[in-house]
This record gives sequence, C-alpha cells and structure tokens, in this order.
Amino acid sequence: MSKESNSLIPRKGGRRFPLALTAIIIVLALGAGIFLLFRDTEPPVIAITPDNADIGEQSPITVTVADTGSGLESLTVKGVQDGKEIELLAKTFATGRKEVSETFTLNKGRIKEGPFDIIVEARDASIYPFGAAGRARTEKSYRFDATPPRIYVQSHTNNLNQGGSGFLVYTLSEEAKETGIRVGDRFFPAYLQPGSSDRPLYYCMFAHPWDVSVNDYKPFIEASDAAGNSAKRHFNFHTNARAFRKDRINLSTSFMERTIPEFKGVPTDGSLLDQYLYINNEIRKQNRARLVEFGKETRSNMLWSGTFKRLPNAANRARFADSRDYMFQGKKVDHQTHLGLDLASLRHAPVPAGNDGRIVFADFLGIYGNVVVIDHGLGLQTLYAHLSSVDVNPGDPVDRGDVIGHTGTTGLAGGDHLHYGVIVSGTPVQPIEWWDTTWIKNNVTSKLE
Ligand SMILES: [Zn+2]
Repeated sequence: MSKESNSLIPRKGGRRFPLALTAIIIVLALGAGIFLLFRDTEPPVIAITPDNADIGEQSPITVTVADTGSGLESLTVKGVQDGKEIELLAKTFATGRKEVSETFTLNKGRIKEGPFDIIVEARDASIYPFGAAGRARTEKSYRFDATPPRIYVQSHTNNLNQGGSGFLVYTLSEEAKETGIRVGDRFFPAYLQPGSSDRPLYYCMFAHPWDVSVNDYKPFIEASDAAGNSAKRHFNFHTNARAFRKDRINLSTSFMERTIPEFKGVPTDGSLLDQYLYINNEIRKQNRARLVEFGKETRSNMLWSGTFKRLPNAANRARFADSRDYMFQGKKVDHQTHLGLDLASLRHAPVPAGNDGRIVFADFLGIYGNVVVIDHGLGLQTLYAHLSSVDVNPGDPVDRGDVIGHTGTTGLAGGDHLHYGVIVSGTPVQPIEWWDTTWIKNNVTSKLE
C-alpha cells in the first residue's frame, strides 16, 4: 500500500494533500467493498443425497455444506412431517470450516412411514450485515419406508435334481429393486411379470448347481426395495443327489499343436503342455465368466415353448458334469468338469436352435471356439460350441429349429461335434431336463396356471 501511495502523491503533486488522502481512502474503501462483496455475499452451498425418494431406516442421508468465504458457523437439519418439525441435527463450528459433511440415518420412532421433507439451514461466519447473504436453506422431499417387502410363494411343490433347473413363482407386497434366489455365491434374478394381480408377480428360474451337495444346498428367496429394506425367505423344495461320471481325456502333442494357435494371449515361454494348461484353466475361467455376463442379457418374459430341440441323429459322446482327468504321456496333468453335452453327428452338420429366443452372442469365445448363445428369457440360455460356421448375429430373433450354424472343431474340440449347453443365469445346468416333456410340464409350465 505504501508503494502505491508514494506513486500516487508525486503524480498528483499539484494538488493539496487532504484531497490526495481522501482519494486514497476512497480507493481503499472501494477495494474493501469489492473484497466484502466477494467474501460475504456468497452464502453456503448445500447438497443433500441421496436423490432417490425412498429412504429406509438404514439409508444414509448425507448433507454437505461448503462456504468458500468466511467458513461455516452453524448447520441444522430438520425433518418436517404433517406440519411437525423434528430436529435431526444441530451443529456449530469453529470459524473457518470451509466444508462440512454430516451423514445420519432416520430413527423410526421420530419420523413415521410416509412422505416427509428434509430442511437444511446453514449460516456462515460473516459478520457484515448483508441480510440473507450469509444464510442458506435447502429442502428436499422423501418418503420414509421401513417395511421390508413380504414374500408370498405361489409354487408349493419344487422338485429338483443336483445339476438341474428349478422354477419358482412368487409375489411380493411391493415392487422390488432386486429380487431372486440366492444359492451361496450365486444369485438367480427373478423377473417382474405384467399382470392384473394387486401384488407384483415374479418368475424365477434357478438351479441346484452341480457342484453343491444336497446337504449344502440352501436356496433362499431375497427381495429388497428401493429404500434398502430387505427380506429373505426359505421355500419348500426337494432335491435329489446325482452322481456324475468320471472321464479321461488323453492329450496328444498333435492335438495341442492343432488347437493352441487359435488362442490369443497365451504365454509362449512355456512348453506345449504349459500353453495347453493355461488355456484349459485361465482362459476357461475367463470364458465361464462371460457366460455369467450373457445371463444378464435376458428378456423378462419366457420366449420359449414346448420341449427343446436336440441335434438330430447325434450320438452322445460326453455328458453333463463329467469329471474329467486330463492325461499326457501316462500322467494326470489336469482336471476339469465338463458342463454340457457333446453330440456328434455328421461333419459340419446343421445345428438347430433349441427353442425360440434371441441371439445374445455369436463369435469366437476361447475354449468354446465359434459359439452361439441364445437367450430364451428369464435368464435361461442355450449354448452351441465348436461351430465351423455361424449363421446368425447378436440381436437376431430365432425360432425353434432354425439353423444357427454348423458343427465343427473350433476351440478345444478333439473331433467334429456340437457342445450343447443349457445355462440358467450363468450357471450351466443339465440339458436333458429341457428335452423332457413331462419334466417341463411338472417343473415349469404347470406352475404358470
Ligand atoms: Zn463338450
């Protein structure tokens, strides 16, 4: 400032000193005014989350208040319901808090279920009388919901086989944000059905996974609403243990030499066997993970009807859930489970779509080679692997029996055949059930009536 004053005085040298002083005072006052304008006319900025209207007892509500000027002095949060004010939070802060974030949940005893508003008021630490400039007020409307959905099972007889599929019909007391059947780490989503019922109706296709023993099989229905209230319920079922076959695959150098070059991303520093084992383990895992992703690309209605079509005139070479030891030069080098059926017909035999649906995948996919995946709705999908040609594209609708490609030896295939898989929300299941009219009637279609 003194430098500025010195430079001002000589320039206005002809004038009287008091005038120069007055000018300086005016300049300083203006500067201070501008400073105060920036400093104190900025009220605190308030943000309230979440944005969705439904709040449950466990839903965290976060209020964030920022004041870039003098900082915050106080913050109050009130709930307003039926004209009554309920204090939820009241805080004062040491001067200089530029940002404050407070998270709380609602106490059921204070706010009742139903609509309510949240009002947030904040005051900054400015001392200059610019009226409301130092205060801010924001309100947001919510609905308090502390009641979890109630689950009403409609299908009372549920018979399953280890490795096989199941189908459950149930209703909920309210529409769910997420609902389905949980089996350990696996989740089989249920899909909301259009209907005239006063309670939302759900269909759930699920499985008794091949790798879960009867004693360990404990499926539960789960449902959670938009406010985060969740419910879990047991349902009646009976499941039969199944013993799966053991099988041996003899690996030959010529087989590995023929199949390995088709794969990308295989470390080439190891032996031929190392490369094969990488494909049979690492790439297999990646490919299986894709099946879980495909399972989510499903329609919420049943696209299929009747029994599923089988590749005509084909011999069954390998069965579902065969436990396979891989042998090389007389030694066991690997172990995997075969999660489909191997059907061998003529070379390059036309492959029919198992049932009506929509193509979700038609491309090369690692161990499966050229593969087509058809979605039949509700998470039910069929897989056709090792194809020599693919005649369909993702998004195409298909009818039962439409030719989708031709059998071949792409991927990890020893000879020309079709690897046929049925998958429920990413979990491979026993395909034979879906060829059986009686099984379909007893376990699926009779539950729709
Ligand atoms: Zn196979």
